Amino acid sequence: MKQPISAQSLFAELRSSDQPLGLATIYRALESLKREGLVQSRSTPQGEALYSYVEHHQHFLTCLRCGTSTPLETCPFRELEKQWQQAKTFQLYYHTLELFGLCWQCQDSPNEN
Ligand SMILES: [Zn+2]
Ligand SMILES: [Zn+2]
Repeated sequence: MKQPISAQSLFAELRSSDQPLGLATIYRALESLKREGLVQSRSTPQGEALYSYVEHHQHFLTCLRCGTSTPLETCPFRELEKQWQQAKTFQLYYHTLELFGLCWQCQDSPNEN
């Protein structure tokens, strides 16, 4: 689960394995992992939740026109998180940050698509 994955695709993957799980079971498992702070979810513009491990968390620049998601190389919150941890202000399990706009390709072709 290095790449963010939806419960649906996890379900499809497990269906062909030795231990198929129901979709509801998968949702419950993902949600409880999320409450424990091990997994985080983000929503696509289509409203689908994508789950990923917190340690692999990544932020994306999502183009509203073509739907391309470009990962950010760094986390803008890393320093703030460290400060909070040191000051015991807040124990942050995970955070989400979604950035929406137009990718460079779509900026170049304003009337297409
Ligand atoms: Zn685009
Ligand atoms: Zn981050």
